[in-house]
Amino acid sequence: MEYIIFHIDMDSFFASIEENKNIKFKNKPLVVGGRGKRGVVSSANYVARELGIKSAMPISKALKIYPKLIIADAHFEDYSYYSFAIYSFLKTITKLVEIGSIDEWYISLKNTKYESWTEEEFAYYIKEYIYKHWKLKCTIGCSWNKFLAKMATNLSKPNGFGILNKNNFKDKIYNLDISKMYSVGKTTSNTLKELGINVIGDIVKKQYNENEIQKKIGSHWISIKGNALGFGSQKIETSADPKSIGRSHSIIEYYDFNEYKKLFYNITNSLNKNLIEGNYSFNNITLKIKYISNDIDTINIKNNTNQKYLNENKIIFEFDKNIPNTKYNQIKNISVSLWPIKRNIFTQEQMNMFNDNYNDIDSIIVNVNNSLSSKAIFKASELKKHYYKPSK
Ligand SMILES: [Mg+2]
Repeated sequence: MEYIIFHIDMDSFFASIEENKNIKFKNKPLVVGGRGKRGVVSSANYVARELGIKSAMPISKALKIYPKLIIADAHFEDYSYYSFAIYSFLKTITKLVEIGSIDEWYISLKNTKYESWTEEEFAYYIKEYIYKHWKLKCTIGCSWNKFLAKMATNLSKPNGFGILNKNNFKDKIYNLDISKMYSVGKTTSNTLKELGINVIGDIVKKQYNENEIQKKIGSHWISIKGNALGFGSQKIETSADPKSIGRSHSIIEYYDFNEYKKLFYNITNSLNKNLIEGNYSFNNITLKIKYISNDIDTINIKNNTNQKYLNENKIIFEFDKNIPNTKYNQIKNISVSLWPIKRNIFTQEQMNMFNDNYNDIDSIIVNVNNSLSSKAIFKASELKKHYYKPSK
């Protein structure tokens, strides 16, 4: 391949995750967002987008466009799971992974075996892998710098692949409205239009007063100009591997003990999937309970080191021991984090985790329980510890 910088961006990430949860939602207009009077759309699937429903639109307006619109609640603990799982997968491809946001990454294939593949082969490998494992679609852009890779993605949405190369990039982006340029927001694009820059190509024509532009938008102008000329940054800012993984869940309605148990089960299950898929282990568990008053109870749970699998009974037990049920209806948010996490060195056999050969007993348990959405099976060694509390 000639171009080694790729940008991977999930297609309507939150909405697709919610869509996958219920077969009845498939191919129907769906948004993730608040149901309240002031609720807005935080993510819309492509069926909804085709009707003109967009992110940040008030839900009331979206419902006027399509009264049967499916409004799904946001489940950030799920989005974190998928985000971390895809990031972990990309890290097996290359060390050079930059996190753009919860659902986008930049990678460089420098010094990897994939350099001998074509750009198309690599992009379709990634797309197929992600779809096969997580039933999610993405769009991939490729170029020689991050800005153009991102623009290639934007031009190829949804579920596409695009390359901006040295021969085609001017034709493909110079006629675009300046507001379509990545990093140029609404305010900046209005300012630039007032100063004579209407499309991206106007930047290179230089029929404007540069001093005036710089006075108005400052140093941002330097990077805008560099990007338009093809001198965008090639540096992948690898974030240090996360030191912890966690899940946070907002409590909207009052929960009783059994509902909290179910919540801890879901959180644990989602964390275990990340641990197994990414081959991580952890040492400590911290449980944080935040109340409506903004008081926080922090519970550090005793744990073994280099643990590969989290047992939810530990959390349920500590929660029950420390939090009186008179306080249940004052809980605003619950979070569980595992720290520090360490990626176990990949051996060839462990690499197979990413090839569906789940052979580890813990991963089998997680997968079975996950597909049944309940704690259907557990190890006999857990039997004694298995925490049971009759409902009152
Ligand atoms: Mg996206």
